[in-house]
Amino acid sequence: MKGLMQDWPLLTHKVVEHAARNHGHREIVTYTVEGGVHRTNYLQVEERARKLAQALTRLGVSHGDRVASLAWNTWRHLELWYGVSGMGAVMHTVNPRLFHEQLEYIFDHAGDRVVFVDLTFVPIMEAVMPTLSSAPQVVVMTDAAHMPRDAKIDGLLCYEDLIAAEDGRFEWPDLDEHDACGLCYTSGTTGNPKGVLYSHRSTVLHTMACCTTDTLGIAQRDSILPVVPMFHANAWGIPYAAAMMGSRLVFNGPHHDGATLQQVIEDEQVTLSAAVPTVWLGLLDYLRNSGKRIDRLHTVTIGGSAAPRHMIQAFQDEYGVRVNHAWGMTELSPLGTVGTMTAETAEWDKAAQLDLQCKQGRAIFGVELKIEDENGEQKPRDGRSQGHLKVRGPWVVQTYYNYDGPPILDNGGWFDTGDVSTLDDRGYMQITDRSKDVIKSGGEWISSIDLENLAAGHPGVLEAAVIALPHPKWDERPLLVLVPRDGAAVAPDEVRAFMGEHVAKWQLPDDIVFVDELPHSATGKIQKTALRERFKDHVLP
Ligand code: ADP
Repeated sequence: MKGLMQDWPLLTHKVVEHAARNHGHREIVTYTVEGGVHRTNYLQVEERARKLAQALTRLGVSHGDRVASLAWNTWRHLELWYGVSGMGAVMHTVNPRLFHEQLEYIFDHAGDRVVFVDLTFVPIMEAVMPTLSSAPQVVVMTDAAHMPRDAKIDGLLCYEDLIAAEDGRFEWPDLDEHDACGLCYTSGTTGNPKGVLYSHRSTVLHTMACCTTDTLGIAQRDSILPVVPMFHANAWGIPYAAAMMGSRLVFNGPHHDGATLQQVIEDEQVTLSAAVPTVWLGLLDYLRNSGKRIDRLHTVTIGGSAAPRHMIQAFQDEYGVRVNHAWGMTELSPLGTVGTMTAETAEWDKAAQLDLQCKQGRAIFGVELKIEDENGEQKPRDGRSQGHLKVRGPWVVQTYYNYDGPPILDNGGWFDTGDVSTLDDRGYMQITDRSKDVIKSGGEWISSIDLENLAAGHPGVLEAAVIALPHPKWDERPLLVLVPRDGAAVAPDEVRAFMGEHVAKWQLPDDIVFVDELPHSATGKIQKTALRERFKDHVLP
């Protein structure tokens, strides 16, 4: 027997309609690309999203067409998200930090009809345009007064002109909730980037999960600053979640430095924020040097790379800001686990809680996790056994867009994340490494992430990376690459002694080298491939 409830398709435009109807005057603030602060609200964003949908229809965009953005987090980018997906087209957010060859591949592979670019990124578009076979229409996300006069792109259009030409009499179409609404390419350290094609249904379900207390814990009364860019795995779902809850949104536009973030947080009374560890490193450094505070902020979500213990501790003990350590990936829309306390762990002492917070947290409903060995045998959930982390659920990728490689799911429908992790009996997952970064020493696995986090806790160390180097006896041994804080000299033996208090001797790095900076990927992760290349001839003592 079937249930007798209504079939109400889960569509992204229902999220923004809900925000406009029930939280219409809730503010959306942007520190703009052009300079200055811009204020709007959900009512206006929804209306302008409809006008944009009209304009795109006029430009010939129709159901299923891809529309790309090369843009910072701004109110215009938000309007574009809702306008494009709401009309039944596919919002393709592109990471402007990728190499030009990757961008060219991505634009052509996606076959984007229109590309919306911020002023900052017009030069990138000028450089890649001549090589594109898809020849997209380019729109600059600004007003007539700021339009670039001598850009070398034919037929450049102005965002505000497009909107001004429409009357907004546009009804969001009835779509199938399984229709595609968004596209995001993984930066892929090997091979070409791969496109993850989200559906309306997967997006709305993911958004509902994000809003729950033990996930991002977003409430209507929050002012949320998603520093994580909308081009990085959908800003971890925050622009949708904020609209679903009616929360105030604050966008930092192109400004990511510690000083600006502190100012934005204080001036706009931000209560909740999310970013990768490198961004928080910049903010914490600025706060310490300036003595400034971030008193209204109550929670930060840290993900994308492992949050080091000293960072979690600094936020909580020095600034009274709770840390949610989260794990996810583009293929998961992106959220998989979040590290909030349970009834039991909330009673633990502070040091034990901090240890727990270094783990990436518990699966949210909608994400199933398991760990397996090389032969596909499931490993126990004992908090010690490491295995390849596999996931499945309604917002996990099934296959990539326009992809002719081997199937990416196993026979049981599980997706291999490429991460190695442990799971404990309380459900807390800890990433110990990427499968390709783990150091295989004498048949044992050494976690590069553990060593990095430990080294980064030394006061003389700004950033740390660990890579495996070949070893005649042990197969592989760890090399620790350090960036010293403010150029201050730090003795390798001192770092080793500091680390030796927390890990077994056989896990300690065989050698420590110093560099001025570490190479980072377009999504803020340390590029281990570049480091392996740089130190491939390094001789371990
Ligand atoms: P890309 O680098 O292509 O942008 P994603 O942002 O999708 O990729 O990266 C996903 C990967 O980032 C995960 O598979 C995992 O290795 C890493 N990651 C994400 N969050 C964390 C975390 N909290 N701790 C450790 N690693 C993380």
